[in-house]
Amino acid sequence: QFHKSKGQHILKNPLLVDAIVQKAGINSTDVVLEIGPGTGNLTKKLLEAGKSVIAVELDSRMVLELQRRFQGTPHSNRLKIIQGDVLKCDLPYFDICVANIPYQISSPLTFKLLNHRPLFRCAVIMFQREFAMRLVAQPRDSQYCRLSVNTQLLARVSHLLKVGKNNFRPPPKVDSSVVRIEPRKPAPVVNFKEWDGLVRMCFTRKNKTLGAIFKQKRVLSILEKNYKTLQALQASQGNDNQMATDASSDFKDKVMAVLQQGKYEDKRSSKLAQADFMHLLSLFNQAVVLFT
Ligand code: SAM
Repeated sequence: QFHKSKGQHILKNPLLVDAIVQKAGINSTDVVLEIGPGTGNLTKKLLEAGKSVIAVELDSRMVLELQRRFQGTPHSNRLKIIQGDVLKCDLPYFDICVANIPYQISSPLTFKLLNHRPLFRCAVIMFQREFAMRLVAQPRDSQYCRLSVNTQLLARVSHLLKVGKNNFRPPPKVDSSVVRIEPRKPAPVVNFKEWDGLVRMCFTRKNKTLGAIFKQKRVLSILEKNYKTLQALQASQGNDNQMATDASSDFKDKVMAVLQQGKYEDKRSSKLAQADFMHLLSLFNQAVVLFT
């Protein structure tokens, strides 16, 4: 009776549900957001711990089952159910998010939460183990990647619990992990699209040197196109600045000079920390080399 396509794997181990709720550190004044409540095993404990629960569930049959489960209980007026796709709906205010989600929405959901305002205190979420390890990976870890760098720009992340397949019905094919995500406050002052453009480029070959990556024709032509677009825009606005005089110089040299300036030519993205990417982005931006 469960839909695989909707990632329906129900938590059947009550001790594990208790452990998740306890690790989440919910206050009695908290508005809790739950994504994919399913039959409500986690929802029940969240209602006991917090002030109220807002549960977003895609499947109308699950919504009916939830309503039936909590109808006439002292909890019913503190539970609000939103039927729909969490990726498409506007999220209401919440203090904390606790969820056992369908794994296919892991990445877009993580960034949807991190872009939500006002920022929440923390999210405690069950992910596929492999995804969780990528979220928390540090420079030099084999799973360190664009996802690690982008998430950790916006949040502190930590691994809380390893969860085996047999805690679910039906058991999924993969192991799981519960992760804590705490948004950084205030949010970092950085153009996220530019940041992601740089990071994505650096991780196209994570074990190549940045010198080798930025020498590739494909990479240079993208960056040069961005550069010329901006130049044309500024010229049309009558801005006679340093960029116009720069136009004849070799674009590749310009990019290599930026890397050399920060001593990045021989570095590899697999070993760069947040601060390195931030520094590199500021050097590129000073040279008006843009990633979007
Ligand atoms: N929370 C329950 C538990 O732990 O027993 C069920 C978790 S199950 C892994 C995921 C739930 O998310 C399912 O009930 C599924 O119908 C729901 N779901 C799937 N895609 C969704 C989406 N895009 N938005 C909201 N809910 C979704």
